Amino acid sequence: PEDLISDHFANLTPHDRATRQVENNIRHAGAVLLGPGSDRAGLENALTMTPDQIIGQIEASGLRGCGGAGFPTGRKWRIAANAEADRRIIICNADEGEPGTFKDRVLLTERPHLLIEGMTIAARAVGAREGILYLRGEYVYLRALIEETLEDRRNRGLLGQGIQGQDGFDFDIRLQMGAGAYICGEEGALISSCEGLPGEPKTRPPFPAVQGYLGLPTVVNNVETFCNAARVLDQGAQWFFDMGTEQSHGTKLFSVSGDCLNPGIYELPYGLSVRDLLVMAGAEDAAAVAVGGASGTMIARDQFDRRFGFDDLSTGGAVVVFNGQRNILEIVEYYMSFFVHESCGYCTPCRVGNVFLQKAIGKFRQGLANPEDIDYLKDLSGTIIETSRCGLGTTSPNPILSTLENFPLVYAAMVKPSQDRIRASFDIQSA
Ligand code: SF4
Repeated sequence: PEDLISDHFANLTPHDRATRQVENNIRHAGAVLLGPGSDRAGLENALTMTPDQIIGQIEASGLRGCGGAGFPTGRKWRIAANAEADRRIIICNADEGEPGTFKDRVLLTERPHLLIEGMTIAARAVGAREGILYLRGEYVYLRALIEETLEDRRNRGLLGQGIQGQDGFDFDIRLQMGAGAYICGEEGALISSCEGLPGEPKTRPPFPAVQGYLGLPTVVNNVETFCNAARVLDQGAQWFFDMGTEQSHGTKLFSVSGDCLNPGIYELPYGLSVRDLLVMAGAEDAAAVAVGGASGTMIARDQFDRRFGFDDLSTGGAVVVFNGQRNILEIVEYYMSFFVHESCGYCTPCRVGNVFLQKAIGKFRQGLANPEDIDYLKDLSGTIIETSRCGLGTTSPNPILSTLENFPLVYAAMVKPSQDRIRASFDIQSA
């Protein structure tokens, strides 16, 4: 109840309040990634296996990348391990920038050892000696904590030369700070940034697992994926495989925000419905939910029984709740302004097309759109998706396309009546 929550938080500063709320929600949710656990059990198990067996465990667990695209993690590791090279790289993408996503921040804060353990296991599996943890610029306050964690693990023989007394198993990680660009969360742009180049995506193929950082085979996974890998090696592939659904195994962290009583981080097995999560978050009166944040899908009430997972509604984890008082077109316009601001500008469809989309949405908001503008939005969105170079461009029209499909009346209500239709309506009224 709202009153109880208000009383409970009455004497806290806003920062403490947010932290407590997150902690409460962690306790309410699962305990696979965010519960208590060892910071080395997975690594110790990995050291009893051959690299091939480690990758086999990850493959058998069904673990997929948790950033949203869902590429099978074991397959990525195997490609990097098999690539011709005498130097390989592990990169953790901690450039969490999707609007509405903050679960990696909590993992970095609560379980930094689990993350480093996962990266070390990946290094053992693919034969890498160098790792880079690319941290979002806005998370600079976490830098000291992560440096401390790395140093602590070096001192305990869990990182550095001869890890756990194993001759020839050398692996260390350097921390690299981002500088506040959303595009650097894109794999290729992140690698460019690590190389000291402007954060611009690279043309694919070749894919990073074959030719990534400095042209070397590179495994790029996000924070949640590495944490999951460590838990798989700790608890076993079957344990992980048994959670979730046919195509999505394990648990997922959700960052829930917006019009709800209990915002925070929820860890839940894949396969739960949007409605299940909304009930837990105290958002039963939600009218719309942006699943996956700005680049995700905006769904309406009649779709709240859809299930999280690659079988149905895939997401990087952002769940932004909107109640019935919100103006859907205002949200869409805001998301488009975000993409206009964050486009790296390399290719025209994304750099220019998103500006046109944003302007067109503005016309609807002012009631100045024509019926043909709906087709214009669809056509231009399709062109941007088909011709953009990277994931920013291929997903930026999603807020428009999903709201056109799921909230058609919102657009129809803002179409300017044509002179013919005004005349016809006048004739009907006169008659
Ligand atoms: Fe840059 Fe956008 Fe092109 Fe991606 S799609 S390369 S962000 S301009």
